Amino acid sequence: MSALLEVESVHKRFGGFAALSNVSLRVEAGERLGIIGPNGSGKTTLINCIAGALACDAGAVRFGGSDVTTLAAHQRARRGLARSFQIPRPFASMSVRENVAVPLEYVAARAGDAPKNAQQILDEVGLGDKADVPASALTQVDLRRLELARALAVRPRLLILDEVMAGLSTSEVDAILQLVMALNAQGMTVLMIEHIMYAIMRFSQRVICLDAGQIVAEGKPDAIAADAIVRKIYLGA
Ligand code: ADP
Ligand code: MG
Repeated sequence: MSALLEVESVHKRFGGFAALSNVSLRVEAGERLGIIGPNGSGKTTLINCIAGALACDAGAVRFGGSDVTTLAAHQRARRGLARSFQIPRPFASMSVRENVAVPLEYVAARAGDAPKNAQQILDEVGLGDKADVPASALTQVDLRRLELARALAVRPRLLILDEVMAGLSTSEVDAILQLVMALNAQGMTVLMIEHIMYAIMRFSQRVICLDAGQIVAEGKPDAIAADAIVRKIYLGA
């Protein structure tokens, strides 16, 4: 059986700097995969190569059994690959509902797929009562919810989250975690990039650690937390 997402020997350089070197991974349908790594280790670059915001220099990305390596980001989105942005960039002057309506309109309905409306998606992420508020008036945690709602609007098979919990309080992190776990329980595959260790350890069935553009460790959360290389990177121990 082929995985939902397969990344095979991806390389990405910025000038003379190797941001990703020979990165390969698989994400199975229904899985919760976590990716950790220090700042600058290549996590966002990897997401950009998977989602199509950046073209990789070498290697391949396969999604749902077909090669998407040369497809543009919007083409990958139409196939069900959605990502959040590390820094939320909502349309500030538009209402929360309008911010979700934009990606909703953009994605053509797939066969046998009942599209949700903006209100349903906002209810799902706990923003239902703020639908008519301008995005500029949202708090940090609600901005992350909106970022999630915008990603959900494309009805993803794979949801990729780039540090959606950064800067949130512990209870806010728990609220977002609960939400993402519920989406996964409904069958959505989730790849979560996160710097907050306890969140990624609670969320993930499997964790991959990147350092300097390479995968340096992979395993179950417990094993990763105890891994000598990971501990050296995070704790300097
Ligand atoms: P992370 O998300 O793990 O913090 P990034 O993928 O954002 O790391 O960045 C990895 C490295 O690539 C960093 O050294 C960063 O400065 C560099 N980098 C990322 N994007 C660009 C770009 N567009 N141009 C030049 N260098 C970049
Ligand atoms: Mg990043």
